[in-house]
This record gives sequence, structure tokens and C-alpha cells, in this order.
Amino acid sequence: MDADAIVVGHGLAGLVAAAELTDAGRRVLLVDQESEANLGAQAHWSFGGLFFVDSPEQRRMGIKDSADLAYSDWMNTAGFDRDEDHWPREWAKAYLDFAGGEKRAWLHGQGMRWFPIVGWAERGDGSAHGHGNSVPRFHITWGTGPGVVAPFARRVEEARDRGLVTYAHRHRVDELIVEGGVVTGIRGVHLAEDRAERGVATNRDPMGGFELRAPVVLVASGGIGGNHDLVRENWPERLGTPPKHMVTGVPAHVDGRMIGITEEAGGRLINRDRMWHYVEGIRNWDSIWPGHGIRILPGPSSMWLDAQGNRLPAPLLPGYDTLGTLAHLRATGHDHSWFVTNRSVAGKEFALSGSEQNADLTGKDIQGVLRKRSLADVTPSMQAFLDKGADFVLADTVEELVAKMNGLVEEGEPSLDVAHVKRQLDERDAQLDNGYAKDAQIAAMRVARSYIGDKISKRAYPPHKLQEKKKGPLVGVKLHILSRKTLGGFETDLSGRVLGHDGAPIAGLYAAGEASGFGGGGLHGYRALEGTFLGGCIFSGRSAGRAMGAELGD
Ligand SMILES: Cc1cc2nc3c(=O)[nH]c(=O)nc-3n(C[C@H](O)[C@H](O)[C@H](O)COP(=O)(O)OP(=O)(O)OC[C@H]3O[C@@H](n4cnc5c(N)ncnc54)[C@H](O)[C@@H]3O)c2cc1C
Repeated sequence: MDADAIVVGHGLAGLVAAAELTDAGRRVLLVDQESEANLGAQAHWSFGGLFFVDSPEQRRMGIKDSADLAYSDWMNTAGFDRDEDHWPREWAKAYLDFAGGEKRAWLHGQGMRWFPIVGWAERGDGSAHGHGNSVPRFHITWGTGPGVVAPFARRVEEARDRGLVTYAHRHRVDELIVEGGVVTGIRGVHLAEDRAERGVATNRDPMGGFELRAPVVLVASGGIGGNHDLVRENWPERLGTPPKHMVTGVPAHVDGRMIGITEEAGGRLINRDRMWHYVEGIRNWDSIWPGHGIRILPGPSSMWLDAQGNRLPAPLLPGYDTLGTLAHLRATGHDHSWFVTNRSVAGKEFALSGSEQNADLTGKDIQGVLRKRSLADVTPSMQAFLDKGADFVLADTVEELVAKMNGLVEEGEPSLDVAHVKRQLDERDAQLDNGYAKDAQIAAMRVARSYIGDKISKRAYPPHKLQEKKKGPLVGVKLHILSRKTLGGFETDLSGRVLGHDGAPIAGLYAAGEASGFGGGGLHGYRALEGTFLGGCIFSGRSAGRAMGAELGD
């Protein structure tokens, strides 16, 4: 045996599992197709948003949350309705207990801290009994993604110093070795050394094979978001036809290959049609990985138009219902949509997801947060997109703006009609003459302002007419579908053991993180409340790591 345990994937789920295994004194081989520079994988690039229930940060913001409310929101959002939702449902319950219980203290004890203003993501479908967060629950980690990775990377590094962890980087796994129904190891190829910087796509030049053996193997290889062919192949009918064009919200290593490899070893993949892609993707002007897209986390005020220039109906408002909006936009037959807004709203309401887009939070720079985020009109990252982003246009008049937006339209895509856009803008703006309105979006903007976190951060900008001159030039943003998360995955029991087609665990095989649909094969069901993916990696990685350690015995 080459180790007590093999962990495939040095992302967050793999790191957490490896840390737990080494705490139990186990020797771990940490295998990844990428170089050591990519330790932490997707989580490094993440915004670091974590879902907690009834946290001290929420209470300080006056938010009344509870385990019951979170349970109701989760189940109404997940919409579990399949026979194979047994383990996903069990995982969801266990994860909710974790998120409302031990999670924060456990992470806090490892040095993690959170930004005091809790974000309100996925505000829902406009019903009390439907999808969405009834209250803000998105806690941005101080240090964003790198701040989430750090404690676990540190534990793994320390274990490496003690001789308990061996890195096997540039090792691409091509096969799980199964002998007599038991997974006993991995086979694959060494990839040629590649000194590319973190996140940049690396070569796949084979340099000869390898075979490694251990009594237990964990698949923590992430999802399929970087492979648009696989995304299209698994695209569900309920979301319309698959888009021809998408931007990519994950590095190229999120290639989904290991999913097929684990299926070949007998693992039962469930809910492969459940995924989580965003509709507010913009092309990165400073791309790191191929087709690099950034997601705008929008506040409530921008006017949202489909490709033909028709305003999206309520409750499909910015920041409300990711997949509801995606399904609606797919029904239009076009791959893009538009925000029409102004510089003040873009500057304050648009947050950009990604650690590198939030240098102040990532660098734990309090002065930067105060000066560049709180006091400035526009954050430096947003200003860079306004100046250089291929999807942004600015203009003083609606006529000029629409002409520039039409300049971004590609062959075969519809042009916008200036009179149609102008009429909708005028109608929207006319609703702001009184402190009350019949327009659902204007009403929603006022509701958002009644949450102190949105008000003081101006994540919900004071309601005003978008055409008000002193709010800066008008801004048009072309929005693309951005591929990101895989909600389905390998069916696992609460120990993270991968189940076979007969429903029994496959001896020696575990899965965690996105590869297991963040636990059970899809603990989110059809939709997510956000901030639940990193937490899902932590929880499923911890569960699998502890169970593997226990299975190995004394
Ligand atoms: C920009 C961005 C922002 C995000 N923001 C948030 C957020 O705020 N909150 C939140 O909850 N979630 C967020 N997420 C999602 C979250 O970061 C990911 O879902 C999570 O980190 C996935 O972790 P993982 O360990 O399951 O997989 P990954 O991070 O994908 O790691 C898998 C590893 O397995 C390796 N691998 C794959 N196949 C093989 C193979 N055949 N052989 C060897 N190695 C292999 C890969 O190279 C990779 O290193 C964000 C993601 C991104 C990209």
C-alpha cells in the first residue's frame, strides 16, 4: 500500500478530508492533475460566501433567523421530488443542523472570520412557500476564497511536515482500480511539469503511467462546469434548450472527467440534470482561464431586458431567482440579456464574484474596504469593467446607449429598438414620483432598503430615476450565461460512502464536495440558497474524512 488513503482532488473538499484523516494519524496521498500552485482549486477563486443560520453577524444586523425558517426555505427551494432524493434529503437535514449549529464555531476556532454585513442572496420567487432566502444568510469570509482554504491548507501542510501527507501533483487519474468489487487504488498518467500561474489552463502532455494503492479512495474531483459539452449534454428540458454560447465561471480543471471514471467503477450518479448556472455573466477583461466569465451579484435596481429588449416580469428581478430567470430567458430563444442601469447603481449595487475581484476583502484590508468600497462611488474592480469590459457601454442619452448596446450584438442576435427601451425606462422612472408604486421592482427596491445591511452598504441604492443625470451616465451591460455548479453527483450515505446501483456502498470508495453533489448526490435538490457550496464541501469533506479514518480502524 502506498498510503492509508488516497484523496483525488486538492480542492476544498479534498483538503478538508485530508486534514481530518491526518488528525486521525492516517497517511494520505493527495493526488491532483494540477500543480501545487493550484492548491484549493475552485475555492481559492470563490467569493468565500458561507451560509449560516442564526449567526451572531445576522443577529447584530437585526435579522431573525431560525432553524425552522432555514429548513422551510431549504426544502421549498430544493423541491425534492424523486425516489433518489432519499440521501440528498438526509444530507440536507444534516447540513442544516451543521450550518445552524457547529459550523461557525468550528471554523471560527480555526481562525476564520466574516465581514459584518450579511448579504441577501437568492431573494426568491416572490412567495412565502417557494424558493429563496426569507432573510440574509450570505456571510462573506474575511479573506474571501483564500480565507476559506487557508485553515485546511495549513493543517494539510503541517501534516506534510510530519510525514503524513504526500503530494502527487500533475497526476491525472484515468481509472479507479476495482478488485473483487473493492476499490483498491487509482491508475493514471503523470502530466508534464507546467509552471503556469494558478488558474491558468495547463498542458495535458502524458509522461508515463502510475498506479497507486490504498485501502480507501476519496473522489473529490469537483463538477462539470468547465466542460460546456458535458453541461449541454446534461441540460434539463425544464430549463429550455441548452445555450450555444456561455462564459465559463470555473477554471479548466473542472472538466468532469473523473465523474465518468467513477461511474465506470460502479458509482451511482444521480440528479445529473440538476445544475446551477448564472444569468449575469460578463466576459472578464483580464481572463485567467479560457472563456473566463465573472458573475455580477446584482442589487435590485437595474432594469433587466431580454435579448429582444422586453423587460423581465416580476419576480424575475436582479438577485432574486437564478434558475427561474434562466428558464425564462431560455424560452426567449436567445443566449444573452441586458442590464440597463446607471453608473451610481453599477458602482454600488454590482458586486463581482471572485476573490481576485475583491482585493480589499481578499487582502483583509480594512482601510481599503472603508475607502474604496464604502466611501468611493465605484469599486476599483467595477471601474475596471466600466473602462475595459467588453460587455459594458456608457452613454448620456438612451438613444446613444441603445446604439452602443446594438454595437455589442453579434450576427444572428436581435437588435434593440430604442423607442421600446426608452418607453420602458420612462415607465419605470415615472413610478418613482411617489413614495409608493405599483411596479413590483420599485416595491422590491424599497423592501431591500428596509434591511439595514443593504441600506448602509448601498447594495440597494436609494431609489431614483435611472435617467437622473446626476447619477452618472447610463450603463448598458450585455449578460451571458455563466457555467458554474453541478448540483447532482454520486449518491453517498451520511459517511460519504459511494453507493452502487444495488444501493449498497462500494467498498473502499468515498466521494465529497461537488463530485457528490456536495453530499448524497444533490443536497440542494433543484436549486440553491447560495453560500452553500463551500459549506457543502467542508461538511461532506469532513464527514468523509472522519468516516474513512474510522473505517481504517486501529
Ligand atoms: C469564482 C467562483 C466563486 C464562487 N463563490 C462561491 C461562494 O461565494 N460561496 C460558495 O459556497 N461557493 C462558491 N463557489 C463554488 C465553490 O468554490 C466550489 O463549488 C467548490 O470550491 C468546489 O470544491 P471541490 O473540492 O468539490 O472541487 P474543485 O475545487 O473543483 O477541486 C477538484 C480538484 O480535483 C482535481 N481533479 C479533477 N479530476 C481529476 C482527475 N481525473 N485526476 C486528478 N485530479 C483531478 C481538479 O484538478 C481540482 O483541483 C464559487 C466558485 C467559483 C469558481
